Amino acid sequence: MKILIIGGGPAGATAAKLLAKKYDVTLIQDRDWDKPCGGGTKIKLFDEMDIPKNLIKHKLNYIYMNYKNTKIKIDLKGENLAIVKRAEFDKTLRELAVKQGVKLYYGKFKRFKEKKAVIEIKKEKILFNFDILIAADGVNSSVRRALNLPPIPKTITHYAKIDKEIETCEFYFDEALGGKYYAWEFPHINKTHIGSVDKTSFNNFCKFLNIEVKPKGYFIPTWQENITIQKNNIYFVGDAASQVMPMSFEGIYYAIHSAKILADSIINQKDYKKEWNKRFLKEFKFMKFIEKIHQTKLKGLMIKLHKFEYMRTFSVNLWLHNYEC
Ligand SMILES: Cc1cc2nc3c(=O)[nH]c(=O)nc-3n(C[C@H](O)[C@H](O)[C@H](O)COP(=O)(O)OP(=O)(O)OC[C@H]3O[C@@H](n4cnc5c(N)ncnc54)[C@H](O)[C@@H]3O)c2cc1C
Repeated sequence: MKILIIGGGPAGATAAKLLAKKYDVTLIQDRDWDKPCGGGTKIKLFDEMDIPKNLIKHKLNYIYMNYKNTKIKIDLKGENLAIVKRAEFDKTLRELAVKQGVKLYYGKFKRFKEKKAVIEIKKEKILFNFDILIAADGVNSSVRRALNLPPIPKTITHYAKIDKEIETCEFYFDEALGGKYYAWEFPHINKTHIGSVDKTSFNNFCKFLNIEVKPKGYFIPTWQENITIQKNNIYFVGDAASQVMPMSFEGIYYAIHSAKILADSIINQKDYKKEWNKRFLKEFKFMKFIEKIHQTKLKGLMIKLHKFEYMRTFSVNLWLHNYEC
């Protein structure tokens, strides 16, 4: 069976590697680049998915939550948060897929023609056959567009890399800095990645940090239930399926695990959506509910509750999946 995967980010590269153990897999990636991202992910992902640990640039055992004049240190109960450099992380995942037998082409999916995928490689349009196609082509999925499916619900983010060294991640929940969601600072060796949602919030955040920098904009999915993740022999995974955790906006962990669910479903001929729902639906719905509360006047209270040890422990255990929700 021929499997064609469009997009070699965390989701596509993982699906490719796992499926290559059984099938003839081709992976199409448009370019090597540093995807706009804080690069923060749960450290347990590396053991769970056998990812080389030398990709971890920082191991963090605490973070800060900020709201108005309140700053709360959250102990992560060990070095549970990893920071990766996306350019290196994504490229390594693609290389691991190639080692497993995947054929990797640098090219761009354009459209479908007579049940084949049209891929542009070095300005030449080539038709690729497939029995199954996996769209792992991110939040702006061109496969979704080619199939006339509604686009992924999303919000804009603005981000920049600045010359500053910080020790750990900080999250800022004031509406002026983080809009409906939050603003963030993530350590990246001798730099810091900063971001917020809309441009006004980002500009306010820069003023607050006393810096001047030009941001880049990029979308991030805002998950909703009932997004199409399969149409006949075409499957969607990662950002292309909106599999980003509400509230935290963690996408790397869920893209990689969703790719594993998809690969297992194809190999074992199971229903992908059912399998994904079994594993993640409750957690995503619960976090969507928390996200909604954060968008009301209860936001301040929710954050201030983290002054209490029991609330910090609850949130960290929830993040680490130590509870069934
Ligand atoms: C500003 C920002 C900060 C973030 N910070 C974090 C964070 O700290 N932690 C976290 O877990 N998540 C974070 N996320 C979310 C995370 O980046 C994504 O959820 C994650 O990258 C999803 O992986 P993916 O493989 O599904 O998609 P992507 O990483 O987007 O990979 C898709 C790949 O497909 C390629 N592609 C697209 N179109 C085509 C085409 N037509 N043909 C061929 N190739 C194509 C792209 O080049 C891309 O490499 C952040 C997102 C943003 C925008």
